[in-house]
Amino acid sequence: ESQTASTTSAARPDEKMEQGDAADYVLKKELRAWCWLPTGKWELGRVQSISRDSARILLSDAKVLTVPVENLLPANPVMLDSVDDLIKLGYLNEPSVLHNLKHRYSHDMLYTKAGRILIAFNPFKEVPLYGNDYMVAYRQKCSDSPHVYAVADTAFNEMMREGTNQSIIISGESGAGKTETTKFAMQYLAALRGGSEIESEVLQTSCILEAFGNAKTCRNDNSSRFGKLIELHFNPSGRICGAKIQTSHIYSYSLCMQSRVVQQASGERSYHVFYQLCAGAPPLLKEQLNLKPAYEYEYLKQNGCLTIDGVDDAQRFHKLMEALDIVKISKEDQENAFAMLAAVLWLGNITFTEIDNEDHVEVHMSEGVTNAAKLLGCEVCDLMLALSTRKIQAGNDSTFQKLTLKQAIDARDAMAKLIYASLFDWLIEQINKSLEVGKSRTGGSISILDIFGFESFHKNSFEQFCINYANERLQQHLYRHLFKLEQEEYTQDGIDWTNINFVDNTDCLNLFEKKPLGLLPLLDEESKFPTATDLTLADKLKQHLNTNPCFKGEMEGTFTICHYAEQVSYDTTGFLEKNRDPLHLDSIQLLLPCSCQLSKLFASHILKKSQNPMGNLLQVKDFDQQNQSVGTKFKVQLFKLMQRLENTTPHFVHCIKPNSKQLPGIYEHDLVLKQLRCCGVLEAVRISRSGYPTRMTHQQFANRYGFLLLKNVASQDALSVSVAILQNFNILPEMYQVGYTKLFFRSGQVTALEDIRHRT
Ligand code: ATP
Ligand code: MG
Repeated sequence: ESQTASTTSAARPDEKMEQGDAADYVLKKELRAWCWLPTGKWELGRVQSISRDSARILLSDAKVLTVPVENLLPANPVMLDSVDDLIKLGYLNEPSVLHNLKHRYSHDMLYTKAGRILIAFNPFKEVPLYGNDYMVAYRQKCSDSPHVYAVADTAFNEMMREGTNQSIIISGESGAGKTETTKFAMQYLAALRGGSEIESEVLQTSCILEAFGNAKTCRNDNSSRFGKLIELHFNPSGRICGAKIQTSHIYSYSLCMQSRVVQQASGERSYHVFYQLCAGAPPLLKEQLNLKPAYEYEYLKQNGCLTIDGVDDAQRFHKLMEALDIVKISKEDQENAFAMLAAVLWLGNITFTEIDNEDHVEVHMSEGVTNAAKLLGCEVCDLMLALSTRKIQAGNDSTFQKLTLKQAIDARDAMAKLIYASLFDWLIEQINKSLEVGKSRTGGSISILDIFGFESFHKNSFEQFCINYANERLQQHLYRHLFKLEQEEYTQDGIDWTNINFVDNTDCLNLFEKKPLGLLPLLDEESKFPTATDLTLADKLKQHLNTNPCFKGEMEGTFTICHYAEQVSYDTTGFLEKNRDPLHLDSIQLLLPCSCQLSKLFASHILKKSQNPMGNLLQVKDFDQQNQSVGTKFKVQLFKLMQRLENTTPHFVHCIKPNSKQLPGIYEHDLVLKQLRCCGVLEAVRISRSGYPTRMTHQQFANRYGFLLLKNVASQDALSVSVAILQNFNILPEMYQVGYTKLFFRSGQVTALEDIRHRT
């Protein structure tokens, strides 16, 4: 039902129930009731008069509109303007949620709960909500307002109390604040029993990961181009005793992460570390690497974006070197890593000259080739050969085929990408070695996941396809957790939950995964046909999947998937090539015998990874066929990740970007709404709404509304008083359930009582 989401704020089908409420609410008695009008955006108004099916509504600018009652949604009484948990809103419809969040955002209240999910707004400015005093306040439970510190604290206490591993799952779109939020959570956990060396090591990893894995994009000046899971290990007394980082590889070995090394969109940069190295390397290092300023390198200068406002790359490089020291990466390893970075930069400066009229080329002799060869530890002539020819194996003989200009550029760029991706993986491995403290892990762990959120652009490609698939999985993880907890709470209090109809996204996941006729298996099958094209792929998908309600095949190589968040239309252009991800064997064969330690290591690492299950090294000629597709590799990664999360108690944080300008104080209504849908907050709210979201203990309820009974009830027990209230004010039996300790209400029911209470 929710899959018909549109990008405007018009009411969605799943709000019918609330609309029914509205008609009810307005028609019954409520002159002067507050309500929401769909005037393009939702506007707050007050009912002036009602005739049959329409109502006259007074708007805040004194205008009066006549609208059909069924178009209205009920608004919460003004006193509910700023609740710190959306579940406390009597009416949980979209405009009410948005209004509440906007109100809070404009008062710098960045955190709001949505039941079990924490919503975190990015302020795009310094706000006095962090630091030692705040950490102490949350630790000592002096503050109960929602905060990422509170989430970390809950996770920690649960781990200590119950001995179960915990996870904090942070999601949101690019620039929403996931990485910052991750750091706040880590700082809090490190400070709890803090003071030892390992804690500062763990905190310093952020600096290293960001230098190598983050870049300026058009949506975020410090955008992480990889997903990461940081597992913090604790000893029985609650001190951090080690950590492990796992990165998500859709970016590492295939797509976005690598291509950024050789090419960036306008206004974007390559990875920070390149600019930091060029700007901040000490003289000796500069000399060793023959380093020049960033503007001398083709890979960096091509689109003219070399600096970031307010960022001093040279200073960042010094911070980076400090961090590498603290994390105990040896000076030698550091220098080797920097040499690989410089080699990548010099590779980019290699150019080619045509040697015949068939477009064949050879490498132009320049300082680019000589420097790159020196840094990689190979002979100049070998590098030149590897970049301008392809080795063809025929039986025992091998011949060299000359490359065209385009092929040569591809070979050069492929080598640069391969080196960078390997360097990134190697670095993570070094960090993990250094953070792995002792094998005797005795306490629990808290894993923090900072992962790319749901994406839907004007044009969506294979990258979005993978990212959104991952988000479907995460969303299911959230659903399952929420259902489980809801059910537990209902069962514990002895109420019947069988009439609650929970819907989840299993259908959409099946669309991706089901064998043999799911999107991923079909994509792999088509990738194996040498003659297949992106158009034949689109046809194939359409042919097999068009009866699936989550799928729509369309014209000209596009198809649409109904995701939990919204419909996304994908363009199959490039799908097959990106899914095949061919390995460039000539690069590997060049690097394998290099004298430089890292070059060798990278090449042998890739070969080792591709060993078949028998443990034999595959023949070079089998290599491409045996190589797993990107889609399948991604799925395997994702399953491993989910497995690790499966055994933890999850805590969810959804980061929201209030505007796309990266500026403070601006609240773009539609952008926020879209994110709330994409990160599943509204879905989660819908789940609660389909149950009994409002809960009060018998005592709370009796205390709050008992006086409405206008007779002395002081001598009666809370349950009897509660039941008397329910009967006296005609709350319909299907609208509530009485549990052992609590009363459970359908959405909106308590608001009616609140109104009566206020008028009395
Ligand atoms: P991406 O997916 O592109 O990596 P992200 O969700 O990780 O994006 P961040 O890098 O965490 O986004 O945040 C973007 C910027 O927003 C930060 O560099 C910082 O300037 C600002 N920011 C985010 N959260 C906060 C906060 N709580 N307080 C102050 N500034 C913040
Ligand atoms: Mg990030």
